[in-house]
Amino acid sequence: MVLCLDGSTVITIMKRLLLFAQKWLQASDLPKAVYQHLARYVPKIYCLGPNLNPQNEDLLAQLLLQGPLEWYLCGEDPSIGLAKLEQSNQPSQLCGHVFKVGEPTYSCRECAADPTCVLCMQCFLGSVHKGHRYRMTTSGGGGFCDCGDTEAWKKGPYCQKHEPSISDSSQEDPLDQLSANMITRTYSVFSIVLRYAVDMLTWEEENELPAGLEPPERGDTYYCMLFNDEVHTYEQVIYTLQKAVNCTQKEAVSFATTVDRDGRKSVRYGDFHFCEQAKTVIVRNTSRQTKPLRVQVMHSSVVAHQCFALKALAWLGQVIGHSDALRRILCQVGLEKGPLGENSLVDTLMLCDSKMWKGARNVYHQLLMSSLLMDPKYKKLFAIQFAKNYERLQSDYVKDDHDREFSVTDLSVQMFTVPSLARMLMTEENLMATIIRTFVEHLRHRDLQGRFQFERYTPQQAFKFRRVQSLLGDLKYVLISRPTEWTDKLREKFLEGFETFLELLKCMQGMDPVVRQVGQHIEMEPEWEAAFTLQMKLTHIISMMQEWCASDEKVLIEAYRMCLVALTHCHGGFADGEQPITLSMCGHSVDTFRYCVSQEKVIIHLPVSRLLAGLHVLLSKTEVAYRFPERLPLSELSPPMLIEHPLRCLVLCAQVHAGMWRRNGFSLVNQIYYYHNVKCRVEMFDKDLVMLQAGSSMMDPNHFLMIVLSRFELYHIFSSADGRKRHSRENANKVPNSFLLHCRERFTPGIGQVQPSDEIKREIIHQLCIRPMAHSELAKALPENENKETGMERVIDSVALFKKPGVTGRGLYELRPECAKQFNLYFYHYSRADQSKAEEAQRKLRRQSGEDSALPPPLLPPFCPLFASLVNLLQCDVLLGMLGVVLQWAVEPSGGHWSESMLQRVLHLIGMALLEEQQQLESSSEDDITFSFTLKISRPGEAPSNTPSILALLETLQNAAHLEVHKDMIRWILKTVASIKTMRERSSTSPVTDSGGQNHQETVRDKDKAERKRKAEMARLRREKIMAQMSAMQRHFIDENKELFQQSLEELDASTSASLDPSSPDAALLCVGPRRTRPTEKRQVVTCILCQEEQEIRGDGRAMVLAAFVQRSTVMSRNRHRPPPNPERHDPLFMHPDLSFGTHTGSCGHIMHSHCWQRYFEAVQAKEQRRQQRLRVHTSYDVENGEFLCPLCECLSNTVIPLLPLPKGSGRYTEQPGLGLWLKTVSQQIKSLHSAHRKLRPVDAGAVDATSNMEDFPPPEGFKPDYVPVNPFSSTVKEMLTTFGTATYKIGLKVHPNEQDPRVPIMCWGSCAYTIQSIERLLVDEEKPLFGSLPCRQDDCLRSLTRFSAACWTTASLPSVQGHFIRLLAALLPDPEVESSPSLLDVDIFHLLVSMVMSYPSLHIQDSSGLSVDAAQQNLFQLVTVAHVVQVLLTSTPEVTMDQESGGGHSEEEQSISALYSCLRRHLGGALRDVGSAWHLWRCVKAGVLPFLRAGALFFHHLNGVPTPSELHARGSGQWEYLCGYLGLPSNLLQLYHSNQDLLDPLIQGYDSGSVPVGSYLCVFLCYPRESNRLIDLPDDYSALINQASTFTCPKSGGDKSRAPTLCLVCGAMLCSQSYCCQTDLEGEDVGACTAHTFACGAGVGIFLRVRESQVLFLAGKTKGCFYTPPYLDDYGETDQGLRRGNPLHLCQERYRKIQKLWRQHSITEEIGHAQEANQSLVGIDWQHL
Ligand SMILES: [Zn+2]
Ligand SMILES: [Zn+2]
Ligand SMILES: [Zn+2]
Ligand SMILES: [Zn+2]
Ligand SMILES: [Zn+2]
Ligand SMILES: [Zn+2]
Ligand SMILES: [Zn+2]
Repeated sequence: MVLCLDGSTVITIMKRLLLFAQKWLQASDLPKAVYQHLARYVPKIYCLGPNLNPQNEDLLAQLLLQGPLEWYLCGEDPSIGLAKLEQSNQPSQLCGHVFKVGEPTYSCRECAADPTCVLCMQCFLGSVHKGHRYRMTTSGGGGFCDCGDTEAWKKGPYCQKHEPSISDSSQEDPLDQLSANMITRTYSVFSIVLRYAVDMLTWEEENELPAGLEPPERGDTYYCMLFNDEVHTYEQVIYTLQKAVNCTQKEAVSFATTVDRDGRKSVRYGDFHFCEQAKTVIVRNTSRQTKPLRVQVMHSSVVAHQCFALKALAWLGQVIGHSDALRRILCQVGLEKGPLGENSLVDTLMLCDSKMWKGARNVYHQLLMSSLLMDPKYKKLFAIQFAKNYERLQSDYVKDDHDREFSVTDLSVQMFTVPSLARMLMTEENLMATIIRTFVEHLRHRDLQGRFQFERYTPQQAFKFRRVQSLLGDLKYVLISRPTEWTDKLREKFLEGFETFLELLKCMQGMDPVVRQVGQHIEMEPEWEAAFTLQMKLTHIISMMQEWCASDEKVLIEAYRMCLVALTHCHGGFADGEQPITLSMCGHSVDTFRYCVSQEKVIIHLPVSRLLAGLHVLLSKTEVAYRFPERLPLSELSPPMLIEHPLRCLVLCAQVHAGMWRRNGFSLVNQIYYYHNVKCRVEMFDKDLVMLQAGSSMMDPNHFLMIVLSRFELYHIFSSADGRKRHSRENANKVPNSFLLHCRERFTPGIGQVQPSDEIKREIIHQLCIRPMAHSELAKALPENENKETGMERVIDSVALFKKPGVTGRGLYELRPECAKQFNLYFYHYSRADQSKAEEAQRKLRRQSGEDSALPPPLLPPFCPLFASLVNLLQCDVLLGMLGVVLQWAVEPSGGHWSESMLQRVLHLIGMALLEEQQQLESSSEDDITFSFTLKISRPGEAPSNTPSILALLETLQNAAHLEVHKDMIRWILKTVASIKTMRERSSTSPVTDSGGQNHQETVRDKDKAERKRKAEMARLRREKIMAQMSAMQRHFIDENKELFQQSLEELDASTSASLDPSSPDAALLCVGPRRTRPTEKRQVVTCILCQEEQEIRGDGRAMVLAAFVQRSTVMSRNRHRPPPNPERHDPLFMHPDLSFGTHTGSCGHIMHSHCWQRYFEAVQAKEQRRQQRLRVHTSYDVENGEFLCPLCECLSNTVIPLLPLPKGSGRYTEQPGLGLWLKTVSQQIKSLHSAHRKLRPVDAGAVDATSNMEDFPPPEGFKPDYVPVNPFSSTVKEMLTTFGTATYKIGLKVHPNEQDPRVPIMCWGSCAYTIQSIERLLVDEEKPLFGSLPCRQDDCLRSLTRFSAACWTTASLPSVQGHFIRLLAALLPDPEVESSPSLLDVDIFHLLVSMVMSYPSLHIQDSSGLSVDAAQQNLFQLVTVAHVVQVLLTSTPEVTMDQESGGGHSEEEQSISALYSCLRRHLGGALRDVGSAWHLWRCVKAGVLPFLRAGALFFHHLNGVPTPSELHARGSGQWEYLCGYLGLPSNLLQLYHSNQDLLDPLIQGYDSGSVPVGSYLCVFLCYPRESNRLIDLPDDYSALINQASTFTCPKSGGDKSRAPTLCLVCGAMLCSQSYCCQTDLEGEDVGACTAHTFACGAGVGIFLRVRESQVLFLAGKTKGCFYTPPYLDDYGETDQGLRRGNPLHLCQERYRKIQKLWRQHSITEEIGHAQEANQSLVGIDWQHL
């Protein structure tokens, strides 16, 4: 059925709509009537064949189906009725904008209630948060803007647009606005339609329809429907489809794309049998390894109704958008239960969610979002239903395989993050416990004690485990905002949830225990990741639980009690049963049991004890703890029991670090790593320390220490009287360390008397003590809270200074110098590497500022009361005993146990104790002082051993020679001891001064210092010597020669620059013409980088070559729409002035013998062949295309340029004919050549009759057209000339090499001209002077390129080169013999100049009349210059300005320019405008011609080797005159024309031939001077780009969002990259959109910005590419590749200019080469698919 919808049909239909509506108004059974209507029309509109026409279907559906419904709903013409509704509607304050994939979203880090609260771009820009610290991300699709939600924002909930007006009474029920009648009608329409849609979407029959919808007639028409799953890959599906339904690859790709996007797609239409066939093939083909793809053969009417059901839902969403009242009715309909208590429609949908296909889910989720979630009243009701169904929905989700964003469970974020809703669901629906219970139920595998066992998981279970983790996300949402007020109900339910949570933790306590492997290495690494994943996911939740508890004392105490019970329960499960033993030391003894970490099971996962530790700290902060500690349930578990497991865990870490657990493999190393890692440590390592502190604060410190020693397996070392038993020293090392950690940790609020900000400050200080760090580095080293905040911003400025980045690198924070004294060498979060780096850095810093290098411990804050007794550890007998033992060892270093780091720790400990004592002395009154460390260390040991006192030992050590490094520290200790003594004495007696001693001390100290300095100096020298030896040994052969080479290069430089010395006495330097300056001829000697031999550059000697890289270029293109030329037929003789495709030559400037290079290249080739056979990977260069890396600098090259000496000019100046005479001679020569060539053409080239060609046109005197010149070059030079020429030809035209092709020399001249022009542009853009500013490699390259181009004709056939010259000249001065000369306007004039100058020698060689090449160069140059002036005049008509008469007097230039201009106007008959101001005209011409003259100066300078005038080595005024002088031109260029007017008129008249469409030219064409190309302008704010990209749709797959929108920075095109949909065929290969674009836009080279990733992409050819740092920086001077951090990004102009410079310099390919050499993984990427 094809409907042609002309006007009258539409009207008829409209009338019928009304009829339907009226019929329905009278119907007694409305649902039945509507169903009948649908049954009849839906199958007639939808799904009528294999090729659907969605536009037509939608139009018909609108007319026949939705139209009548709208009529009925409104009771009048819907366009009127709906408008009325809209008018009376008072919209809610919610924005509710639903995010598209890739759209930017903003969250305020200061005001958002949690990170899920986001704003759309419009709202954000109109909000207060624009000026706050915000975060920007791209949406994954789904979710909506939270603007207007007062619960989502701490402040500024409304943007300007959504600000509620004051008069607004928003509490009103929106239904009040509708008539009762309307409400009834709406109600019935909505319920019928929604019921219909729900029925159809949840319908599972393939062949039947629900009652009432059976079609009147039913054909044998079926669809074979393919469904999406997440098991099969794109490639599998595409392959299968090609087989099953016989389609092309393109169609299969399109099917697969749609299936992936919509969740299903019909792949075949026809009768049942036909479809069934396809289904069988698909199922058979995909069932081999996995479960088969889901395919259904469905009757067309079923599919039709399902299609319309989707439309109907979309329609509902659209209708309720008109009015909040309608929305509310729909909500009511959706949530209404059936008359018998059946599920509501929304419930039905939710419960069937996992059975529906993606597309259907999306549509109804959208409807839920725009209806229920937008209505405050019904959002609550919906949330309750959602919570009631929670368990079932989650189970369905876990069983399903689709991503969470396609599941209804994903809506949890919309409700659970609303604090009031979350709280309500928690108290009413017990949500917290439900979530945890559901989670635990899904983790089935347990051991005998009920603990999780992840190692037994099958891949499928592991997959489920990953999915079920999303429940923890929900739990986090519920907990994210802490209650400000508690009710009894909330307490009850929270504690119930907490108890469930403890059940979960109990299942984790003790999972994955480890046992030390002895003898053999473990065979299989045990599974550990799952347990740690769980731990990581729970980290924030555990912290949040503690925060909840902390906010209410009753809850806290109760939770603590519950936690203790749980821990007791856990301990009951451990079969410890070890033997009891008694330890005794220093007169103390304690009972414990025998246990050895290195021999028995150790447990890493102790979440219950750690939670208890956390709660313990919180208790310490409460008032109860201060006032009634007896009320706390502290002592139900004995302290030794509390510390046992955390202590074992710390011992395990120490032993692993000491290498005792090596045989346990990497899994253990990884676990220990994560235990300390910033992601886990807050709820692992940190809490274990807290537990030790808590335990020891309740114990006798001597007992505690003994137990610790015994667990560390060191008890025997210290307890035995002489301490001489042999034990491994590594162990001993660890002990004091753990004490240090332990006693010092006071920066946790609750343990020490500090603020939370002190804790973070200290972290930052210690990070910055290692080295200055970027913001992101710091952020990574700090723990994040559940809001992804580290709290760094609040304190960073008080401890650090920010340093801005330059063009590279990033901004860095440096520690404020005054904070350095808070440095603690044994900071507990330092890894060993951190510690040694920090130590080195800090010592260096202190030495630099002239202080001594001792690093004493910093001052510490006092403990909280509950932990106060910890101080006594530092002065307990056991510790003092240990200190004594270690110091004794140090005095007698032969002892064996001793190590320097041990001593260092002991000194540190002593320092801490001293500081403690000092602080107490300073702050408290005398009676309170309980700390008497100095007294204790001054006491010698008691009989019988009579050991010396610690102080005495220290004094001995001060003079020990082997402890040089520690002397500063020991001195510091002794000084502190002395000052404490004075303090104590001062309080009792008056101080006694001791000046004599001090003096003595002073001198000793100076001597000491000098000695140290001398030693340090010696050490440095030794180090340097060793380093030098090492590097000499390591250096590669070539590197070794580098120095030699560089020397010679410098010599070469010196010699060349001397010969080109600008300040030579000859004042008037002239670079072209018979009178040009002759450079003093000098032998040029260079060194080969490969064999190091010196070689003079001679035409007849051994060839020397320069590594070079030739590439096609569009950098200067003024027309990117011109299609690339056809390589086979393209005639490159004339370059179009739009310079759309050029050939650029660059070089790294490194010189080799040609034979050395050949040998090198062959070796590279052979190596590459061998390598490719072994491993089929790419390299950064493509040998088959002649590419290689420069053997010295590894710069990418693809050919070599031969070096040539200066051409020998005619030594002295001889009188030469003027332009007129010269032209005459040349034209005669040409004529004779014409006839000679005519003779050549028809007959065989070999049979030249010498006499016959004289008859046609006698050659002028001295001209011998039959003269065959002798090639002046040696064979190797000739060979290299051919090599480079062929390479340029091959690459420039993209053809196969053919050295005979007459286009070879043309391509070489073109490359020379193009390269010079691009360098001229670059110098202008970089604002550099014309001469003297190029790096020498570019100078070398230009020089050899120019000389090569001048010589390359010698290897081509003479007649063809002569032919080129004739045609070139004919473009200037018409020649009747030459057909189809281009118009001068279509020729790039500089290319013309270069080609003419280069091809002229082919005439000159046969001429012996005495005309010099110099004269020819001058004449050609002047001719071309005049032509260019004309070009400029014709194309750059200046604006007509009358005012500029510059003081009345016309200068000479102005008069001549107006004369020429009016002459041109005469010829062209008024096509040129009349320009009043000659002054203006002259200015235009000067500006237009300047680039040409500059390029010309570069060209002749390098060609003739004439030194350059110093004035051109600087920028500034007067450049024009100097330039003209150097080029031998009058500064009034017009003189050239006027003095030879009669000769040049043909040139001008060439334009009046009528075929020159000047007028049309002007509008499309550039004007002179040509503007430099720039990369496109980028917006300052990166989110503008993201927004732009989010509206970009894939150009090939009909309005789909592109996954990887990518911006071409050259032309501004947006591309759909890295995606199947936009792959195209390029030279027989499928390539992605970017690669394809580079070939059209950049001749194979591309610069892109990947917008979603914030990444710059460089591409070259099909196989090369790299990523480059983007030009966008955040406020901290850092880029954000991948947009992971989300800080606002702004354009950094400097960095963007740097990229632009790379591009203009043609260095992109080189940059890629270097990147790939540096990072081999880049080579493996399939760049062509981007
Ligand atoms: Zn918004
Ligand atoms: Zn808004
Ligand atoms: Zn804000
Ligand atoms: Zn060599
Ligand atoms: Zn090189
Ligand atoms: Zn695409
Ligand atoms: Zn482009």
